[in-house]
Amino acid sequence: MPRGVVPRQPAKSGRHDTVRSTRPLPRPQRASVLVLAPSTTSPKKRGSAPIKKSLGDSKGYNPLLPERIREILERLDQLYPDVSCALTHGSAWELLVATILSAQSTDVNVNRVTPELFRKYPTVRDFAALEPEQLEPDIRSTGFFRNKAKFVVGAAKKIVKEFGGEVPGSMERLLTLPGVARKTANVVLGTWFKEALGVVVDTHVTRISRRLELTKNTDPVKIEDDLMKVIPQKKWILFAHQLIWHGRKLCTARAPRCAECRLENLCHAADKTWSTVEIHKSAKP
Ligand code: SF4
Repeated sequence: MPRGVVPRQPAKSGRHDTVRSTRPLPRPQRASVLVLAPSTTSPKKRGSAPIKKSLGDSKGYNPLLPERIREILERLDQLYPDVSCALTHGSAWELLVATILSAQSTDVNVNRVTPELFRKYPTVRDFAALEPEQLEPDIRSTGFFRNKAKFVVGAAKKIVKEFGGEVPGSMERLLTLPGVARKTANVVLGTWFKEALGVVVDTHVTRISRRLELTKNTDPVKIEDDLMKVIPQKKWILFAHQLIWHGRKLCTARAPRCAECRLENLCHAADKTWSTVEIHKSAKP
């Protein structure tokens, strides 16, 4: 007798229809997902009967159609008409420091640290006079504080030595600063200098762009290239801020609040928590 199988008892009906086994049950197949039927009622009423739709990409579907992009942008404008960078700052230098500190941290966390930091060291020259070790205790709570201290002090020294103490307003020069890649440069250029030279691609922009099928890439530089092709340049700055806010409020990494999302019927993300439209298995974060 195979291991794990308990001898069956004769069924009263005469049919041997049950066998008790200690073997684990087979895992459910992931061939299909439940998608709720389109409803004219409020999405909050979730009692409607679910229907099954096949998991997969619709043939011929083009997520980059200009009409769809326009609709996404319009809805984002309605949801987040006037959003800007959430990092507290009073100068280009403060914004640069805050952006460097925000890597692998939250804006809330950074905003807790920076007011005291900028009171203690009010100018870029004050930072340039430090050794990284002196800065470490002040920024410890933002994580990766040793590297960040090196970047901030290194950037300050370079700005003082090569740019006369002023944060440069060009992509080319910003990218020469320690700890500054395109994301940080785009934040400073877009938010402070109002120069739309690229799209800020952070973790929220990456996740939502992929869920909305605006890109299939995972590399931030390639994602930025994809977004720059489909989003009008005059929208680059605002669009990134809108996705960042959307990512914080609704389209969170875990359990996005799709039933409350105004983009819901334009979104085919594989990990939606509620849907009135077909799910596309490739549309995932
Ligand atoms: S429907 Fe859900 S997954 Fe799609 S954008 Fe909205 S919150 Fe994000």
